[in-house]
Amino acid sequence: MKNSIAILGLALLIALPVSAATPLTGKIIALDAGHGNGETGAVGVCNGVEVIEADVNLAVRAELKSLIVSGEGAVHEVEQLSSRHDRVADAENAGSDVLVSIHHNGSTNTSADYTQSFVTQKNDKILAGYIHPAIVSALDLQDKGIKNDGYGMTVYGSLPGVLTESYFITNTEAACDFLDYQNGATNTRVQKEAQAMYDGLVAYFSANTGGSGNGKGRNR
Ligand SMILES: [Zn+2]
Repeated sequence: MKNSIAILGLALLIALPVSAATPLTGKIIALDAGHGNGETGAVGVCNGVEVIEADVNLAVRAELKSLIVSGEGAVHEVEQLSSRHDRVADAENAGSDVLVSIHHNGSTNTSADYTQSFVTQKNDKILAGYIHPAIVSALDLQDKGIKNDGYGMTVYGSLPGVLTESYFITNTEAACDFLDYQNGATNTRVQKEAQAMYDGLVAYFSANTGGSGNGKGRNR
């Protein structure tokens, strides 16, 4: 008898219209687009056309933001301040649950290309453990792993954060791929990277249901 009531209850639950929360519901994800505000970051070239890292970082942020918003999460766009300490403070003050700092690597070797992520604190490593492998599998470049050095962005504050260098914008193929993106191509690195970061965030929040907010902000 008890069992059949339980089964009936379960059947009713399943029959209810779906308005279920997603893993991102109520989460605030701070997205930092590296450089900007007069600072270019790395500069790649495709057929004589310069591709600025800061532009690529902004493009990935915009794509990732729209995925997060569709997935019912909230995005805080970190102000492009010159001090990395102040950028982290901006993310924390917004009550963010996590921080993703989007960068792309640079080298004088125009064929160099690999994926790397940077962390500092223990909670950064947990977050990076979801985001980094997703990027590696989406872009299929050499995996140089998660390194213990956040270039400032993961050093300050207590917010779980990861600084990503998904690929080299100085790589000729990558620079040309970004121009394709700007010309409307749909399966470029920008979209693949944003989708991978989104999948990583969903996996992170699914596994860490209580969230890992900084404990000071508007934790929900
Ligand atoms: Zn950078």
